[in-house]
Amino acid sequence: SKRQTVTFLPGRVRVAVRLRPRNAEELASDADFADCVELQPELKRLKLRRNNWDSDTYEFDEVLTEFSSQKRVYEVVAKPVVESVLDGYNGTVMAYGQTGTGKTYTLGRLGDEDTAARGIMVRALEDILSEISPETDSVCVSYLQLYMETIQDLLDPSNDNISILEDPKTGDISLPGATHVEIRDQESFLELLRLGEAHRFAANTKLNTESSRSHAILMVQVKRSIKGRDSAVSNENGDKSHMHRTLKPGIVRKGKLVVVDLAGSERIDKSGSEGHTLEEAKSINLSLSALGKCINALAENSSHVPVRDSKLTRLLRDSFGGTARTSLVVTIGPSPRHRAETSSTISFGQRAM
Ligand code: ADP
Ligand code: MG
Repeated sequence: SKRQTVTFLPGRVRVAVRLRPRNAEELASDADFADCVELQPELKRLKLRRNNWDSDTYEFDEVLTEFSSQKRVYEVVAKPVVESVLDGYNGTVMAYGQTGTGKTYTLGRLGDEDTAARGIMVRALEDILSEISPETDSVCVSYLQLYMETIQDLLDPSNDNISILEDPKTGDISLPGATHVEIRDQESFLELLRLGEAHRFAANTKLNTESSRSHAILMVQVKRSIKGRDSAVSNENGDKSHMHRTLKPGIVRKGKLVVVDLAGSERIDKSGSEGHTLEEAKSINLSLSALGKCINALAENSSHVPVRDSKLTRLLRDSFGGTARTSLVVTIGPSPRHRAETSSTISFGQRAM
């Protein structure tokens, strides 16, 4: 089978770090400086330079370099989660990092012009669509933006305040007010992502904000009917000509994949920023620190995961812990000028392990 062996214990968060290549500006202006990080992918280690002589070493589940392909990133970060969703479990894939380090490139890249550049969302749907049987199974997608503790529907801009419904018995969450689109082929999924991006841009222009200040959340619900077998039962004489058939009732397996392109983790400079931006900063800090606390709780195998502290964590509640699988990719840039932000991103990833 296509299954690959990636160690992934349920309940534990798998953490990968991905370094973006130098961009044109960094190639020009940092030409005389070394990158602030040095990667040892085969040892799954990253060294962060402290100064010209010293560096700190960190270990991750996976270290993805500036040369790692999108395919490889999908395989180590998302594929095990997608496989468990197909088996009927919930799972989350998240990208955390400073704006401009490659979160959207990693998760949301469509790869229209170059299929090798396709990101995790597109590859995940491709895998899901190829595994299910269209007659009996279904794939339903919602696409949301979470901005200032408000959930907006990226598939229907008039839905700008969606509430979270929680099943008191199972703890499962649902969003009855959100648009759910059944997806049958890859082209309609790409169309839906494009539509979502266009709505996101329009909504943020209206709110006078940037997409880096909000979380983008893709939810994929997979429902599979494991067909009841036609079991042939022969009569007492073992005479097969008289056998009758019994049809066992089908089993329905439901799994949910949530892909979260988190808001930029950089500290927003309070001095000189508009009031609006300060509120945004507070809101982002609230949700990212709530997320951090939940991930730490999972990492420590704590029985209490504090999901109530933010909308983001409430939304992820049934995708965290228990039998669910969580994969986090922290994205960093090479520039020595952003060493402090890079260090804080690395710490976030380390606390999740
Ligand atoms: P973020 O979503 O974290 O703000 P983006 O994904 O928008 O960052 O990436 C910022 C820029 O860097 C984009 O132009 C993107 O194409 C480029 N980029 C990011 N990661 C990579 C990569 N691994 N290889 C090549 N270009 C990348
Ligand atoms: Mg982005």
